[in-house]
This record gives sequence, C-alpha cells and structure tokens, in this order.
Amino acid sequence: MAKLSKILVISALSIITMSTTAFAQTPKDTDSGLLMLVNAEYRIPDGFDPDKVMFEDTYYLMREEAAENIEIMLDDMENELGEAPMVVSTYRTYQKQVDLFNTDYNGKLAQGLSPEEAMKQTRRYVALPGASEHHTALAIDLSNDGTLEENFIDTEAGKWIKKNCYKYGFVVRYPKAKEEMTGIGYEPWHIRYVGRPHSDIMYANNWCLEEYIAALENNGMITWADGETIWQIYYTENENAVYSNVVDISNSNTGGYVVTTHKGKEIITKAETVSSIAYRRNKLLSRLNG
Ligand SMILES: [Zn+2]
Repeated sequence: MAKLSKILVISALSIITMSTTAFAQTPKDTDSGLLMLVNAEYRIPDGFDPDKVMFEDTYYLMREEAAENIEIMLDDMENELGEAPMVVSTYRTYQKQVDLFNTDYNGKLAQGLSPEEAMKQTRRYVALPGASEHHTALAIDLSNDGTLEENFIDTEAGKWIKKNCYKYGFVVRYPKAKEEMTGIGYEPWHIRYVGRPHSDIMYANNWCLEEYIAALENNGMITWADGETIWQIYYTENENAVYSNVVDISNSNTGGYVVTTHKGKEIITKAETVSSIAYRRNKLLSRLNG
C-alpha cells in the first residue's frame, strides 16, 4: 500500500512541474516588442531590426501582427463605409528617417524660415532620426488621397479610425490633446499596433502610450476584465522575474518589461487542477509520514 502511494506522489509531482513550466516565463525568455515606447526621450536601440512581412503584396513592410489586423480593419472599413483608406507609410529604416527629416527641414529653409524656426516646425511632425516609431514596423499611416493632413479627422475614415481602431489592436498614437506628452503634433492618420487588451485599456482610459507605460510603471500591475478573461499586466525591471499564464512579454524601451498575463476560463480550470493535485499530494505525504 505504501509502495502504491509513493508512485502516485511521483506522478502528481511531475504533473505539477509540467503545468508550471508551460505557463511560466521570465522577461529574458522572450521579447515581442509590441509595447515598445519610441519617442525623442526613448530612441530605437542601435541595430534594431524587427521581423517584417510584406503587406498584401505591396512593398510596405510591417510586423506580421500589424499586417494581419490592418487587413481585417480595412476590410471592415470598406464594408461599412464603402471604401477604405490606403496604407501610405509603414516601416522606416534609420536612413529613411534621416532623409525624411532633412528633406522637410531643407524645404522649410528654402521657404525662407530661419534655421531655428525650420527645426522647430520640422520636429513638430517629423520624428528625429532614431525617434520614429515607424522603425518598429508597428506604425502605419493611412490616407484617403495620398496626403497626410490634419483634416483627415474630418473625413469618414478619420472619424471611424478614432472610434474603432482599438478593436483591432491599434491606437491613434499622436492624439491632439497629448501633444505635450508625445512630443509630436496631432496625426489622426498615424496608428500604432500594440495588440489587445492594451489598445482597449488605452482607449478606455484615454491614455497615449507614454501615459500607459507610466501608469504600468507607477502601479506595477493593471487588471483588466474582458468578458470571461481577466488580464493582469505587470511592469518589471527584473528580467528574471517569473510570471504565470503569460501571453506576451515586451521590452518597454524605458528600462523595463511589460508582462501580459491572462486568467481565462480554461487556464483557471488548469490552475485549480494544479492546486487540487497539490492538495492530494500533501494529503498523501502526511499519510506516508504519519
Ligand atoms: Zn506616421
């Protein structure tokens, strides 16, 4: 009888170990980059080169997650509005950022602006080289007619995007009211993929990415309920910290990591199974020792 119990203990222990390993991760294991903050303060790291795919057989390159979701979003826009805007800009290399910045700056000088004024105006809409989040391959500019103007927000497409893009994991990255925090003027055409539930949380709280990362840093953890799923999103600077039920880990580019975990119905059941195995194991151990 004692022999049989020992065998049971061993198998119960191996189940516990397997279950824990399957869901636990540390920031040093992986980095999706989906919540990378890029601005004048937090530049793109040297040599950064994200994985990219071609968007619908065009030369526009973007991250696979962004490509999948923009395709669905544009299809829905076409169905609802009769037409969808065009993708006009996606991934930009560092050199492309340098060229864009210089072209804009030189154009303003040619218009007769002083170097100081030209620099100020260029910086309002063109990110400094290394500070463009187009480098992440997660940012997309959309346009009805090829131009990128603030009056995009007055068009059906602009209004629809402001109201709905979060449902596809995107956020309007440079809102009008957040210019001081983002350092970039209002760009109703520029959306950034962060994935859900982050886009939902940012939309519901009216946070730009700077504010969202700051909220995570200040709170350490944010809980978000979404139907049957409870999401817990952590901020840590410890790359060895262990988390369970991890769905995503992203370097925030601010010296820390955003760890997204969820407790869906299915995973809660598994967690309960683990605890009931632990309970049975303890009962067996106490019987064996007793
Ligand atoms: Zn843009």
